[in-house]
Amino acid sequence: MAENGSEEKKKRVVVIGGGIAGSLLCKTLHKHHHFDFTLIDSKEYFEITWAKLRAMVEPSFAKRTVIDHHEYLPGASIITSDAIGIDEQCQVSTAEGRQIAFDYLVIATGHLTNSHLTKTERLRQFEADYEKIKSSDTILIVGGGPSGVELAGEIVVDFPAKKVKLVHRGSRLLEFISETAGKKALDWLTARNVEVMLGQSVDLDSGSDGVYLTSSGETIVADCHFICTSEPIGSSWMKETILKYSLDDRGRLMVDKNLRVKGFANIFAIGDVTDVPELKQGYLAQKHALVVANNLKLLIRGEEGKMVKYYPATSALAIVSLGRREALAYILCVAMIGRIPGLIKSKDLFVGKTRRQLGLQA
Ligand SMILES: Cc1cc2nc3c(=O)[nH]c(=O)nc-3n(C[C@H](O)[C@H](O)[C@H](O)COP(=O)(O)OP(=O)(O)OC[C@H]3O[C@@H](n4cnc5c(N)ncnc54)[C@H](O)[C@@H]3O)c2cc1C
Repeated sequence: MAENGSEEKKKRVVVIGGGIAGSLLCKTLHKHHHFDFTLIDSKEYFEITWAKLRAMVEPSFAKRTVIDHHEYLPGASIITSDAIGIDEQCQVSTAEGRQIAFDYLVIATGHLTNSHLTKTERLRQFEADYEKIKSSDTILIVGGGPSGVELAGEIVVDFPAKKVKLVHRGSRLLEFISETAGKKALDWLTARNVEVMLGQSVDLDSGSDGVYLTSSGETIVADCHFICTSEPIGSSWMKETILKYSLDDRGRLMVDKNLRVKGFANIFAIGDVTDVPELKQGYLAQKHALVVANNLKLLIRGEEGKMVKYYPATSALAIVSLGRREALAYILCVAMIGRIPGLIKSKDLFVGKTRRQLGLQA
């Protein structure tokens, strides 16, 4: 029913991508009288991505972090498939052969993850990772960004007797934040006996019988390895769609101040897939989602001129957990390490907060 009492057709909103950005947007629009929304996600669940390293050392933790989309969006239209096309007729096509028409489209495809696992398979994967860690004396981690550093931190805190080796292609750890932050993380890890090798990559195909060859010809002996390199942006499929000219040279969707994809009045983008000039962080992806939810409500009321602008974060804020109690925080260009930053993130990794935002028990 429209606000003036006359029958009005609901607007069809299609959201592609069920990470934190897409999930929170759907939760905000869920049960809104004027929208009929459909979430298309490669997988049947939302995963709190920044909690996955803890789930590898404590698989039961994953039961709170891997959440079936239907759990927080009861009764919603959810399609588990890859989006593979968007055409001029305002239709999204999926890998399973469906065409879904939209009035408004929101792209939230962030980074490609373990796309096609079922929730059960994902939980089993955490169990398998845990068993792998538990049964190994020496563990090789490939990648020294936030995932590699956080995994090393989880392992050395929960399994102090294990030997961890971390190989990173770059010249320092945590290249997405300052050099000082990278140095503090390096010192923290080496103080806990982690062997960090910088400026090298590992040829994983060379690994036989637990012997791995690095790009500089060194050999590393380890019982198992985990790849923690950054995932590609989830936009390569858009190169064959009407959005092909809206991608920048890094594969990010170019958006305007209202988070509309440049050149399109009815297509928005939120989260890590956008070219918004700021650190790619989940809490910022959540802000994008709330801005777009507001803008969609304004658009259907015919108040396009009042649309909310998104102002990129002017100062970087990132927290890298180091096991269960400590963390490295990068706030206002200052890096701090230890128990105090750990109080903010490391105990629960924002899992309770994120669940509450989705209307679930913490
Ligand atoms: C180790 C680590 C720690 C972090 N810690 C923090 C932190 O403490 N605080 C913080 O704010 N941020 C943190 N981040 C960053 C945060 O995880 C990301 O910024 C956030 O997950 C981005 O959310 P998103 O919804 O944009 O994308 P994603 O989480 O990448 O979700 C994208 C979704 O789109 C789906 N998808 C992709 N392609 C398609 C397609 N073609 N069709 C259908 N579905 C598709 C994927 O399956 C996925 O569900 C951390 C990241 C890492 C790696």
